[in-house]
Amino acid sequence: MAEATAAAPDLASALIAENFSRDPAGLLQIGGLSLTALAERHGTPLFVYDADLLRRAYRALRAAVAGFAEVDYSVKANPNPAVIRVFHEEGAGAEIASGAEFDAAVRAGVPPQRILFAGPGKSAADLDRVIGGGIGEIHLENREELLRVATAAERHGTTVRVALRINPGATAQGGAMRMGGKPSPFGFDEEELSEAVAAVEGQPRLHLVGLHLFAGTQGLKAETLIGQWAYGLALAAQIARQTGRPLETIDLGGGLGIPYFSGDATLDLDALRAGLPPLVETVRNDPRLAGARVVLEPGRYLAGPAGIYLARVLAVKHSRGSRFVITDGGMHHHLAASGNLGQIVKRDFPVVAVRQGEGASPCTVSGPLCTPLDVLARAAPLPELAEGDLVAVLQSGAYGLTASPTGFLSHPTPAEVLVDGDGAVVIRARGA
Ligand SMILES: *Cc1c(COP(=O)(O)O)cnc(C)c1O
Repeated sequence: MAEATAAAPDLASALIAENFSRDPAGLLQIGGLSLTALAERHGTPLFVYDADLLRRAYRALRAAVAGFAEVDYSVKANPNPAVIRVFHEEGAGAEIASGAEFDAAVRAGVPPQRILFAGPGKSAADLDRVIGGGIGEIHLENREELLRVATAAERHGTTVRVALRINPGATAQGGAMRMGGKPSPFGFDEEELSEAVAAVEGQPRLHLVGLHLFAGTQGLKAETLIGQWAYGLALAAQIARQTGRPLETIDLGGGLGIPYFSGDATLDLDALRAGLPPLVETVRNDPRLAGARVVLEPGRYLAGPAGIYLARVLAVKHSRGSRFVITDGGMHHHLAASGNLGQIVKRDFPVVAVRQGEGASPCTVSGPLCTPLDVLARAAPLPELAEGDLVAVLQSGAYGLTASPTGFLSHPTPAEVLVDGDGAVVIRARGA
């Protein structure tokens, strides 16, 4: 899923140096707080997020794209209202994909007009909920949905601002997931762009304000993202030419990546910034685009690095020459780390021992579920471990708990804790 390039040999150490710390006794800390103490207080397994790291990612990206785009937050990456609130307080609007995510964003304080609704299957009930709640914009992805939104708008006696999500055509530059020309359930195919524009324009309750292009997730190369965004601007101009009105919104999606595996590059924000002037020029020089709000809506990039998934060792088993560290945490809370969410070749997330021990040799870190799929790492270089020790999965702030099959084996869901300043607050209780 990621584009591997030669880079840091030991991702976990680099991440600890950059985002976390160890106390004088070698125990891992987050935001200056002891993970050991947090595990004692809140139980394991446990998700812990550092609000400062959330803010740091947001500010770095906002600074990199300043003058070109504003940065919203894609709620599905981590829908905890406390996390949404951190980004909202930084100035982010929200991209949501369900009625419940709309409610979470509103609960976090995001004004409804700063929320936009994307996703390939929006139900009439969810449309009623968000239109009734005064949502800012709905992104249309197919013909039935277009009509469903028009009908819902009619029911509410209102006009809905909409944008067209476009699945780019074969000429589009490649992205992390091969951008152009593929069949897709998401959005209107580019070949149908003008028909889709005409269909929206024929609906008096729909006000077409923009374009939405989301070309793929986990992009680690600045030049790929720049290429996708340039393509988005060209499609936006095409829509505006057809409607004869300037666009109000150009949503270039999310998809900015973070390193998960040794060898992954880190997205180079300086390179991203350096690639923007031609795009800024394109927008400025086209009167149909010059007044539009250009929006990015990343999730992973903003939330991923700030989170740790903490699990406690239940047993260490040596089986025919292999060491298995069996923990209370697993794929039921963290499907992505188990390699069963979006990976073709399963590779290990950065997993470290909370207590820095002597030596390190590869081991398999597995979970409590009755399936061989329940593995958090296949060859993690960990020190000697024993029952009661803690292991930490880094890069776990996005697509963790809510992207996992929490019902499988009926273990309670873990608590989520947000570290901010010198305190830690429970933002989701265990079992809730
Ligand atoms: C999932 C999603 C995002 C966020 O993707 P990331 O890869 O986490 O940045 C943004 N926009 C839409 C429409 C999405 O579906």
